Amino acid sequence: MADTVESAIQSAALLLESSTDSAKLDAQVLLLEVLNKPRSYLFSWPEKQLTEQQKALYDSYCQRRLNGEPVAHITGTREFWSLSLQVNATTLIPRPDTETLVETALGLPLCDKATVLDLGTGTGAIALALASEQPHWRITGVDRIAEAVALSTLNKQRLGLQHVNFLQSNWFSEVENQKFDLIVSNPPYIEHDDEHLGQGDVRFEPLSALVAEDDGMADIKHIITQARDYLSPDGYLLIEHGFEQSIKVHRFFAQMAYINILTVKDLADNDRVTFAQWPK
Ligand code: GLN
Repeated sequence: MADTVESAIQSAALLLESSTDSAKLDAQVLLLEVLNKPRSYLFSWPEKQLTEQQKALYDSYCQRRLNGEPVAHITGTREFWSLSLQVNATTLIPRPDTETLVETALGLPLCDKATVLDLGTGTGAIALALASEQPHWRITGVDRIAEAVALSTLNKQRLGLQHVNFLQSNWFSEVENQKFDLIVSNPPYIEHDDEHLGQGDVRFEPLSALVAEDDGMADIKHIITQARDYLSPDGYLLIEHGFEQSIKVHRFFAQMAYINILTVKDLADNDRVTFAQWPK
């Protein structure tokens, strides 16, 4: 007898329990992907029978999840700031932590037509979230990896956010000599030997988006140093960082003569974003 929606989720959740602590949610999200239905369907149609085809596809998704593959790679999408973004293995899967950076940026006293640069944009998550809230900001997102530029451009088109421009650039290398009112970045900031790199979703993400030299500080320092040439007077630089890096980031901002340096905590109450203004 074919499985029903409810029983398929129950057995998948049981199967996945050994490999993830979000087994039930993962089982639900994967089934919705198979059925191509909204979440409410699970509660409206628990007795609905799966077809053989649906069951086979669901089994293959659950098997991939059992092998550790991130749900976002299996479904090819991830929600960020209420936007549905296409995701693939060429770049980082957007994290809820990064919404702290978006929220902080949106809270700054910037003009209606602010110029904004997102460094290492990946899926385009930050740039597109800002664009969705600020239709008059002129936003550029850059990434060193061509596939990431293609992905962020695809996300821009799907979301119809035409006022964002994505281009390939290694940090500032291809950015025209222009001043920005706001520069944001979620750069790689994890140390090489961090034990988390062997666990969970990060095993399937590119190390280049996660790991940085100098105890995870190399790219952060590069950005803070270079951004001085690209910030308008009193422009802001916002950087996401590891929960134990705020003091180092703060100190480096100060060494480079930035002012008004502040750190913001994420929803889990960890230091997550530090920002400052370039006074000159
Ligand atoms: N916050 C991510 C993690 O801990 C890392 C993201 C990054 O390096 N930019 O997995």
